[in-house]
Amino acid sequence: MKVPRPVYLDFAATTPVDERVLEAMLPYFTEFFGNSSSVHHFGQKADSAVENSRDSLAKSLNCQTSEIIFTGCGSEADNLAIKGVCLAMRQKNGADHLLVPPTEHPAVLRSAQQLARDFDFELEYLPVDQFGITTAEDVAHRIRPTTALVSVMYANNEIGSINPIAEIGSVCRQKGIPFHTDAVQAAAYLDINVDDLNVDLLSLGAHKFYGPKGVGALYVRKGTPIKPIQTGGSQEFGLRAGTSNTPYLVGFARALELAGEERAQRTAHVIKLRDQIIERVLDTIPDSRLTGHPKLRLPNHASFVFENVDGNNLLTLLDVEGFACSSGSACKTGNPEPSEVLRAIGMSDSWASGSLRVTLGSTSTADDVEAFLGILPKLVERQRNRQRSINLR
Ligand SMILES: *Cc1c(COP(=O)(O)O)cnc(C)c1O
Repeated sequence: MKVPRPVYLDFAATTPVDERVLEAMLPYFTEFFGNSSSVHHFGQKADSAVENSRDSLAKSLNCQTSEIIFTGCGSEADNLAIKGVCLAMRQKNGADHLLVPPTEHPAVLRSAQQLARDFDFELEYLPVDQFGITTAEDVAHRIRPTTALVSVMYANNEIGSINPIAEIGSVCRQKGIPFHTDAVQAAAYLDINVDDLNVDLLSLGAHKFYGPKGVGALYVRKGTPIKPIQTGGSQEFGLRAGTSNTPYLVGFARALELAGEERAQRTAHVIKLRDQIIERVLDTIPDSRLTGHPKLRLPNHASFVFENVDGNNLLTLLDVEGFACSSGSACKTGNPEPSEVLRAIGMSDSWASGSLRVTLGSTSTADDVEAFLGILPKLVERQRNRQRSINLR
């Protein structure tokens, strides 16, 4: 079996741009290069591309066109949701409390922490279970009349678990509290109908589903209090200043359309490979555990911890053998701190330091997965022996 190397198994970090998406984008770099705010013909061409993209997103999300705010990335959408709504809610009715699980992406977590540290908000962490899931009851018990915002991610980027967003949203709706979900990781595979999900705000980022990097969007339900975080021109209904990035918005819309149209096939393709990876890893590698929920997880996402293994070193060994994976944690090179997500779900350091995330996508093949599963147990063993000899020294 000949597998072309390197093999990319890190689709949760980012995805390549789909050829069809690139093709849709290209004319907007050169031929239709106008500023969508200009009055003349060039501006009109760009403006209609921006508004068609907005229409297309609105269709994908089942919302109104005026409820889509384009941003510079998924992180920016999260920042606008958290800071924009909390500041508006405080001005409206003095609300100063926010509820966020500790397992959120840093774009949400650091925004909430900044509100607490610099702007006198009270940040309360929602509980998560051993799989990193927050329940609607957890939220119901903690909502106060002074809660400005509840934010719970749709699917976790590190451990793949899916939260019961519709149920949490229904609790927030009953209490009249705005509810945001970070769907940046989820949108590639899960339904993003904002009415079915009972959400008031939802973040997206194009590069997680074969769109370009550097473009995102925030859905904001009509009537939700929100203030701009980036001020300037009146683009995006006054909620996000800056000349519209026409080619990227066109690419974003095309990528989301394709994700919707091809969802069933894409899911069927990756879920088989994912289940094979999970089964074989747990079978063949001693002292290994799945992280995240065994069933309620993204179809392309397998994540593990191995006891007494240095996850970063394991990634390096895998890279040398031609497999690009992730530790699934914020720790990149040289930072031995175990991930906050794994700590939040109660993982001890001797397990949490040995994390591995394997995420699949369009180019993943059964041969790649077979080759990966053939070599991984040996690399974990080699890494463990090395770790043991360091400990003995
Ligand atoms: C990737 C990701 C983000 C950040 O999106 P960018 O477009 O890279 O800024 C936010 N939240 C989650 C869950 C993600 O997976």
